[in-house]
Amino acid sequence: MTRISCDVVQDILPLYHDDICSAATRELVEEHLAECEDCRSYLEQIKSSFNLSVQAMEQNQLEVNGLQRFKRMWSRAQSAAFVKGLIVTASVAGILFLGYWGLFRWNVIPVASDDISISNIRLRPNGEIAFRIQIKDGYGADRVIFNLHDDGGYYITPVHPVIRLNKSPNFNFVSGELFTNPDNVRAYEKKKHGKDVEITSIYYGPPNNPILIWKKGDKLPVRK
Ligand SMILES: [Zn+2]
Repeated sequence: MTRISCDVVQDILPLYHDDICSAATRELVEEHLAECEDCRSYLEQIKSSFNLSVQAMEQNQLEVNGLQRFKRMWSRAQSAAFVKGLIVTASVAGILFLGYWGLFRWNVIPVASDDISISNIRLRPNGEIAFRIQIKDGYGADRVIFNLHDDGGYYITPVHPVIRLNKSPNFNFVSGELFTNPDNVRAYEKKKHGKDVEITSIYYGPPNNPILIWKKGDKLPVRK
């Protein structure tokens, strides 16, 4: 049996460890290992370094998994943050819009009676009650709200936003002539709200202090 040197055995040992050497080589190596402490310990190093590398690979895999988990978490957090950002942005925009709308566009403030001047109340030949309105606050009203009460009171309320920018209101008949036919109002309200109420009075102005235009029994001058 040929004896081989430790250098040769240690060159071969990795192949032996991985079991990719021939049976003859394996036999030689095992004969040598049986007698050589140095080469046995070298083989142990190979085994342990292999184990280490397996451990290292597993550790690495854990880190990769951890990194992937972190990446996923990060992208989730990012999309969550993006959605949160969108919601916050939309909310702020909504609040700003509502604020703008509420202050400048939402017609909720009735024009005060003192700022309203009514004249030329009359009955037109076609049955309409007509009157001239002047709003003297320098702005006028942006909108008019009509409201028929159960007692037959028909309330016409000119309104404007909290903050007024427009000096020339869009609505035509807040300043000028208003024509209203009580029979037509009654028919309209019946159709729209199912409420058949005879119109017994007409008011123009704020709900708390409206100006009486006409009440049933009043004799109005008839003119166009
Ligand atoms: Zn040896």
